[in-house]
Amino acid sequence: MQNPTFTDLISHPQLLKALEAQDFEQPTAVQALTIPEILQQKNLMVSAKTGSGKTAAFLLPAMQKILTSTPVNKLSTRTLILAPTRELARQITKTAQLFCRFTSLQVGMVTGGDELKYQKALLRKNPEVLVATPGRLLELVKLGATDFSGLDILILDEADRMLELGLGEDVLAIAETCYAQRQTLLFSATLEQRGLKHLISQVMQGQPAEEIAVREKSNQIQQEIILADDVKHKERLLVALLAKSDFTKAVIFANTKVKAAQLDGLLRYNKHTVSALHGDMTQDQRKRSLDIFRQDRTRLLVATDVAARGLDIDGVDLVINFDMAHSGDDYIHRIGRTGRADNSGRAVSFIAAPDWNLMSSIERYLKVSFVRISLPGLVAAYEGPKKIKTSGKAASTKKRKPAGAKSSVDSKTKVREKVREKDKKNVGKRRAPVVAQHPQTAPELADGFAPLKKKRISKPDLGDEE
Ligand code: AMP
Repeated sequence: MQNPTFTDLISHPQLLKALEAQDFEQPTAVQALTIPEILQQKNLMVSAKTGSGKTAAFLLPAMQKILTSTPVNKLSTRTLILAPTRELARQITKTAQLFCRFTSLQVGMVTGGDELKYQKALLRKNPEVLVATPGRLLELVKLGATDFSGLDILILDEADRMLELGLGEDVLAIAETCYAQRQTLLFSATLEQRGLKHLISQVMQGQPAEEIAVREKSNQIQQEIILADDVKHKERLLVALLAKSDFTKAVIFANTKVKAAQLDGLLRYNKHTVSALHGDMTQDQRKRSLDIFRQDRTRLLVATDVAARGLDIDGVDLVINFDMAHSGDDYIHRIGRTGRADNSGRAVSFIAAPDWNLMSSIERYLKVSFVRISLPGLVAAYEGPKKIKTSGKAASTKKRKPAGAKSSVDSKTKVREKVREKDKKNVGKRRAPVVAQHPQTAPELADGFAPLKKKRISKPDLGDEE
């Protein structure tokens, strides 16, 4: 069907009324492709990015089915949507409530962080549509508080992320309690992720599933990089970029919770009003922070990947990667905060030497070429690697010996020992411990230094979802 309208796809008048009230005029590509298939009872595996309109793509046909078909079991949940994070679950719930506001359908949500007893009470009211994060829902399943015996549709949103967060087992355990003849829909940024095919075959219970890949126009996001010397330089770039850029709202990504908290402080110090979103914050703090950003009371949001995954925030036209994303998929999710629903946007990544290889693999993975820009007065001394491999990654500058070549020092020749300046004098050497002179001093502190400890490598932030 060429450019269908919503009336070609959805027939229920109350749902069409809700679409009109939300100013949804034209279906997006993912909606045009999937809605008819869902209404034909097909199991689907859809690769679609956040921002493509996938929430409406599964909610509208699921609701139409509930409104127009006879339930297998009146007390059972009819549509179950599993999402990786609380924020995403909340967002899906809000969208669902908007779509069914002119109908009698009830939407419930259960996620970690809220009290179990309220969630049990909510489930007793049998909402037709239930949105949940897998960990908490499985707890409720084990308590016998759920009823999926007549479930029409099971939807896994951001299935790749659920796997990454180790929620695959929980998802499968929940799926096993669902009506066997249900329809299953899986949405994921990519269908190529390791382990995903296995999850799909298990959750689909060997039933055939159609694969739909939604190609997005990605050129609506201007993607740029700025070279940086080190963290301090990146901080100066951040402050200057925000001062010089014309933007409505910006999201700044850091790779760790600690860095996100530091940037929050830096921006506040520079008189910005900022919202922050990372795993060290309580659920309430995160919610408040997001609400403030959504309501335009702040223009800046500092976030880590997990906390900001899948979030739909209107009007974000600038994304700054203070640290480069760990993978192409994370990069896509980050820049997907801008340029949503056909709006344009800009993504700027700060690239210091440690970010270079990540950046070039992301360029290759996404088949894009980042535009290199600089800020006057803040041009980095770092100009990229001295030598670049054909892959775009930095090549080692150490000279390699040709295979089979003899060592330049002949074994018979006397080896000349290098004498360092510091070895000639007593400079830069650790003094011998003086324990004997200070028996009362702890041995490790006897020379005034604490023992050398292994350097701690900070792990990437995994947030505290579920
Ligand atoms: P999603 O990918 O579902 O998170 O949607 C991204 C954004 O696009 C949300 O703000 C939706 O409200 C909006 N959106 C989805 N479908 C449409 C549509 N057909 N017309 C206009 N906006 C839409």
